[in-house]
Amino acid sequence: MPPRELRLSLAQQLGLVAIPEGTHAGRAPEASEWDAARAAWRERGSDACAICLEPFAISAQVLLSCSHAFHETCLAAFEAHAAAQAAAPEAPVVAPPLACPLCRKTEYHKMRVTDAGRAYITAMVVRIQAWWRSVSQARKYKALRLAAPPPAHPTRRRAWLVDKLAATSDAMLAAVEATHSEADELCALIDAQLAAARSPHDPKPPPLPPSLSGTEWQAVYLRALDRGCDECTICLGSLADPQRPPTLLSCSHVFHAACIASFEAFTLEATPTCPICRAPFAKHAV
Ligand SMILES: [Zn+2]
Ligand SMILES: [Zn+2]
Ligand SMILES: [Zn+2]
Ligand SMILES: [Zn+2]
Repeated sequence: MPPRELRLSLAQQLGLVAIPEGTHAGRAPEASEWDAARAAWRERGSDACAICLEPFAISAQVLLSCSHAFHETCLAAFEAHAAAQAAAPEAPVVAPPLACPLCRKTEYHKMRVTDAGRAYITAMVVRIQAWWRSVSQARKYKALRLAAPPPAHPTRRRAWLVDKLAATSDAMLAAVEATHSEADELCALIDAQLAAARSPHDPKPPPLPPSLSGTEWQAVYLRALDRGCDECTICLGSLADPQRPPTLLSCSHVFHAACIASFEAFTLEATPTCPICRAPFAKHAV
């Protein structure tokens, strides 16, 4: 907002009434005057905006030449409100000049300042540093408390030793439990692998010898004739020997009756299988 022109009254223009102090008569204040205004504001030690009563924090802030400071937005709202009042139909013909909301000094000049913002940031940094220092010191103290007993304090020393002993025994128990469960897992793994390795060799329930009808025996006999075997593969003797009657098996292999009987007596299997084709068999005299 451009600085307002100083509108002197007729009495002021004629020198009958003194021009109020600090109006600067419309001229922008010198740097030294700004320094004085800022020093006066700091001396007052106010860190809150007098319009909204909130702390300045990091919001934009303006210092007036009368040494009062406000939020930039608060002062803009105040000026807009004053301008609206001056333009209202019920306003007096000669509108009152715009004045500082605190000291009513007219013809003030404004300067954006960051003093309160910087002070706020510094305060926050100090708070963060203090918090971090307390956290790190608490950690250090905790580590120290675990590492060394409190010196020359019998009660606290005793409590520390009790805690330490409890922690040590807990750690030992946990270690034992951990190794125990590892050993259990290893045993279970070995058992599972052994079972998997054995499964192909598991003894199956012995197959039952087939029971054949008369016509089926006839078919088996024809297959044996087709093969044209005339020798017992157990004793390599002739099957045509009248002293030694042959026996037909359901798998169509033929042996001497005495040979297959002694084979059955000799074998370890619960259900004997044919010495040639390993099929469980039923016998039929031929
Ligand atoms: Zn404010
Ligand atoms: Zn003021
Ligand atoms: Zn034989
Ligand atoms: Zn056979």
